[in-house]
Amino acid sequence: MNIKDLSLTELGKWLASKKEPGYRAKQIFQWLYQKSAADFNEMTNLSLALRDQLQKEFSFSSLKLSKRLVSAIDSTEKYALTTEDDLHIETVVMPYDDRCTICLSTQVGCRYGCSFCASGARGFKRNLTAGEILDQITTARQFKHAVTHVVFMGMGEPMDNLDNVLKAVQTINSPDGFGIGGRRITISTAGLIDGIIKLQQVYSTLPQIELSISLHAPNNALRNKLMPINRQYPVEALMQASRDYIAATNRQITFEYILIDKLNSSRKDAEALADLLKGIKCQVNLIIFNPQSISKQGETFHAPPEEAILDFQDVLFKRKIPCTLRASRGKDISAACGQLITELLRNGKKTTRRVSF
Ligand code: SF4
Repeated sequence: MNIKDLSLTELGKWLASKKEPGYRAKQIFQWLYQKSAADFNEMTNLSLALRDQLQKEFSFSSLKLSKRLVSAIDSTEKYALTTEDDLHIETVVMPYDDRCTICLSTQVGCRYGCSFCASGARGFKRNLTAGEILDQITTARQFKHAVTHVVFMGMGEPMDNLDNVLKAVQTINSPDGFGIGGRRITISTAGLIDGIIKLQQVYSTLPQIELSISLHAPNNALRNKLMPINRQYPVEALMQASRDYIAATNRQITFEYILIDKLNSSRKDAEALADLLKGIKCQVNLIIFNPQSISKQGETFHAPPEEAILDFQDVLFKRKIPCTLRASRGKDISAACGQLITELLRNGKKTTRRVSF
């Protein structure tokens, strides 16, 4: 078992079973998450006997780095990581001047099959454990990235693996863990209402994390086409769940909206989106579709022209819907969800892009 699968409390219980004092749990956490120890033997304030015991019962890391790509455009990094059972996931690190955001995977593959997403096209394999989620941050820290913000927006649907995601969140937030504040941690969902309700129910026991919903279409006809999950949880139900969540937690929600040319990015779509979100305490993130088009069932998607993007944003501004426009990062390194792994598998693990280890 990966030692990072244990919460601070669980580690304390394991230590108690070995007749070790409770404070050792914090010491071990600090070695794992703050001092980036690479081995139990580095934990020099523990006795040799305890280090031996830890070595016998736990593995130290659950992921192997298969490939690291660095964008020549914006320094975004993408890691292809291999699990102990030889499955593949990816992690994206986005360094900015004043912060460093990591985008974490939560599952191997995804069962929801959104038509614009490479992860969905590969189907679902299994949930990641809390340790595998945390090891993605450990990997980024190996490359000297001081991660300040965490978004659960990589491969997989976080609400479909919520227990492990929330366990990881506790360690990410813990002062003895990565020590990242709740408001810098965002859980996203494609609209799994059961998960939103569950998160709402346990919210008071958590750090004040942010919720983000990938909306991408303002009505059922279009959303059914882009995101099959909408057939199970239609737009009206999703909006009601959002209102309930905001009322119960007193937090706002961010709605993600990927702008795709000739599909969901007309002025009419923007007006429909503004109608849908009217009165909801929210923020909209407009994301320009990563121009590396992904085809599914004969469809190829592209980013809209700049004029259409600005028009869309203008409608939301005029309708007083708070919104920001974000360009896709890492365009030269397949940084959108699932793209790198799909490409590696397709190309027999060969790539012509800039690679460094
Ligand atoms: S966008 Fe998210 S929910 Fe949709 S298929 Fe991709 S990983 Fe799954």
